[in-house]
Amino acid sequence: MRKQVRQEEPPVLKNGAVTWAASWSASRSEGKPWRWPVKDGIPVNQWILEPLRIQTASHCSFCDGFPVAAVSIETIEHFHPKSTFPEKAFEWGNLFYCCTRCQGAKKERFDPGILKPDEGEYDFARYFIFDYTTGEISPNPISTTEEQQRAFITIEHYKLNDGILPQERRRWLQIRRKIPEGELDDFAYRDFLS
Ligand SMILES: [Zn+2]
Repeated sequence: MRKQVRQEEPPVLKNGAVTWAASWSASRSEGKPWRWPVKDGIPVNQWILEPLRIQTASHCSFCDGFPVAAVSIETIEHFHPKSTFPEKAFEWGNLFYCCTRCQGAKKERFDPGILKPDEGEYDFARYFIFDYTTGEISPNPISTTEEQQRAFITIEHYKLNDGILPQERRRWLQIRRKIPEGELDDFAYRDFLS
């Protein structure tokens, strides 16, 4: 989960966010399903997908899957779930480019400890370490107890060590660096996914 610098808010959101959030809040209380509103004939998610994709250089914001479009539907993750935080459903800082696997892992769950990739003090190495042997990430043992807890919560919510993810990270490292099996060395793995 690499640090992101938040791009400038797209004008479409600046103009519509408050109205759409109120509308979604009302729809939700009536039990209606979520749908992206449409602006000038184009769903809002299509308007904002490109700047979000640029923000991560086409990587999933959470598992670093790359390129998302090749392995998944490109989705927009509501960091604060839209069901629990309808007022944040169109808040630019709450939206992240994301793969379907991570969406399915987190679902509508939320914990205030989850690390946010564009959070000011966030940095991968501050919170996580990467095991080059297993391909798994884990809380950095030299960070504070609170930081380790946040890293743990983040791994759990997005299930960052589940399924083929660890293998995929190792595979990417070896492909990008042409490193033989068993000779992975110490470097920032995410840099190779850029
Ligand atoms: Zn993902």
